[in-house]
Amino acid sequence: DVFYRELPKVELHAHLNGSVSFQTIEKLISRKPHLNIEHGMTAIGKGQRRTLDECFQVFKVIHQLVDTEEDILMVATDVIKEFAADGVKYLELRSTPREEENTGKDVNMEIDKKKYVETVIKAIRQCKSEGVDIDVRFLLAIDRRNGTEVAMETVKLAEEFMLSTDGLVVGLDLSGDPTVGHGKDLLPALQRAKNCGLKLSLHLSEVPSQLEESDLLLNLPPDRIGHGTFLHPEVGGSQSLVDKVVQNNIPLELCLTSNVKGQTVSCYSKHHFNYWYQMGHPCVICTDDKGVFSTDLSQEYQLAASTFGLSHEAVWKLSQQAIDYIFAPDTVKQQLKQKWIDIQPQMF
Ligand code: 5GP
Repeated sequence: DVFYRELPKVELHAHLNGSVSFQTIEKLISRKPHLNIEHGMTAIGKGQRRTLDECFQVFKVIHQLVDTEEDILMVATDVIKEFAADGVKYLELRSTPREEENTGKDVNMEIDKKKYVETVIKAIRQCKSEGVDIDVRFLLAIDRRNGTEVAMETVKLAEEFMLSTDGLVVGLDLSGDPTVGHGKDLLPALQRAKNCGLKLSLHLSEVPSQLEESDLLLNLPPDRIGHGTFLHPEVGGSQSLVDKVVQNNIPLELCLTSNVKGQTVSCYSKHHFNYWYQMGHPCVICTDDKGVFSTDLSQEYQLAASTFGLSHEAVWKLSQQAIDYIFAPDTVKQQLKQKWIDIQPQMF
């Protein structure tokens, strides 16, 4: 539907390596035929579902394909242009800094975490200089699996880049397999990030049985929540968790296709978007991993609208309100709001 494509949009929850499109995967596969990777191993097609655990296996395959500076630059550039082509005007990309040895190859192929971040920043700047119509910011991701020290190292890296990139790095994400590790080990790092002005978007209660951890992390409090699938009492969460989210007015980043394909939500009509949206709580529709889950942001808005009976006006309001929840400063919010005002007459 052309309305959803032309709708100006804000994307706040997109993992770089989960966002790699079919076309880019094809290019990567042709660069590395020796890996014997087929497209079916990197994306979950229409009607298919996997367990969350199987989804995490998919990321491992993609990481094998994306392991040099050249790959990262191409992937980030392609992803940014694809979001722009889908009508996304402001994008917060998130990615886990990785080091790759690339043994047996040229030593110049080695990449460390700093270089990884620099390369993503380079892609953002290149797109900007080419005049791509999208404002892109970056969140460094902490993979919860890697524990206390790596989390602290990632925060320090984010601090450095926040200062040296003139605001392109705006914060941190906490992600990775929710069944591994515990949030309490990461609290000192997250607290430090908060104290130095970095924003926090944390994956919370993505699976049941994370109540205690969610409670602990909500005390920070985070600036936004990823998923929050099992926070509310109807699915085994609790009213006190909901109260903390509401009292702190913490926006939720909601990814319909991701949750249904990853089987943490049984079907679209049971998605927790409904619970929070009905309450009037800040909700932002996002893709999570547009490549892995074979979707895009226009499709996610359309899905939310068709599943929950939202009018075009309601959808417009939803995309417009997302501007209030971005991590970039107020001046950027004002620019985006003006953009929405300029586009509105063409839409209605
Ligand atoms: P990258 O950080 O390498 O750019 O993107 C892939 C990584 O993002 C995965 O390895 C994982 O740590 C994280 N990720 C992507 N999608 C999800 C998700 O749905 N849930 C969680 N918890 N982490 C995710």
